[in-house]
Amino acid sequence: MNNNLSNIKKSKLFLDKGECVAIPTETVYGLAANAYSNKATSKIFRLKKRPKKNPLITHYVNLKMLKEDCVLNDNFFKLYKKFCPGPITFILKLKKKSKISKNVTNNKKTLAIRFPKHQLTRKLLKKLNYPLAAPSANISSKISPVTKEDVIDELGKKIKFVLDGGRSRVGLESTIVNLIKKPQILRLGGIEISKINKVLKSKMKFNKKKKKIIMPGQNNVHYSPGIPIRLNIKKPKPDEAFILIKKRKLFGKNFYYLTKTKNLKEAAKKLYKTLRMIKKKNFKSISVEKIPNLGLGQAINDRLIRASKF
Ligand code: AMP
Ligand code: MG
Repeated sequence: MNNNLSNIKKSKLFLDKGECVAIPTETVYGLAANAYSNKATSKIFRLKKRPKKNPLITHYVNLKMLKEDCVLNDNFFKLYKKFCPGPITFILKLKKKSKISKNVTNNKKTLAIRFPKHQLTRKLLKKLNYPLAAPSANISSKISPVTKEDVIDELGKKIKFVLDGGRSRVGLESTIVNLIKKPQILRLGGIEISKINKVLKSKMKFNKKKKKIIMPGQNNVHYSPGIPIRLNIKKPKPDEAFILIKKRKLFGKNFYYLTKTKNLKEAAKKLYKTLRMIKKKNFKSISVEKIPNLGLGQAINDRLIRASKF
């Protein structure tokens, strides 16, 4: 506990000086910087090699600071009450007087915001007088980190400090909902669409085509282990790594279970860790058995499809 406290203090010192710090969240680890500072946020893009046009999600701990930056509406309050803090991101209208850096929004009048649930990051946010802009703490287009070791694997000595909060519980990025006009799902993630529809009494589906216009960065190769991935495979090739979600009688060492019981929550949590592990073992390709396109399975398939566009 004392150790955590001093690490939070260290993180604050770096952030106050305009440096980037990797922070734990329940989705994945983030590469955080002061969202009000042009200088600090430009470092995020440099470190990650992230295209400038791809805007960042800003992380808050309570409504007080958010109200300074964004216009809040009824749909926001309904979803906030049900799911926050948690793995859901909202697109809101930026207030004219907001101090958010133009790097964060790519000069647009909208802002992506989230309330992370991880206790260490919440404690850190409470000590700061600015919110944190934070994309995942990996090199752009590569696999997202879910532990401190993964962050170091990705960014190594390029970052000053990693706040170690153990393994990310959800293991997949947040679901993004655009709340500017009629609600729309922009990215599948940690909270299932059906749960969001229930709260809003809506019938949203994930529509890949529509979101393209306002979602730079969501259409390219992403989450990639750097080797080909084949999906919906029943029989892998002899030298492939084989990812499974249901217990089978298998011989050899090339298979990796995300779950043995089709538990999609468990599968989501293990996805990035498993891809990273396979990559390190120097396999030439990966095959994945069919994953049901339901609930979190939809988000898992979304990530695998984009990772397979290698
Ligand atoms: P990540 O790389 O996981 O941090 O992804 C954040 C995603 O949020 C990016 O792909 C952006 O396209 C999206 N995003 C951030 N800000 C906005 C915004 N104002 N409007 C629409 N999408 C946004
Ligand atoms: Mg990312």
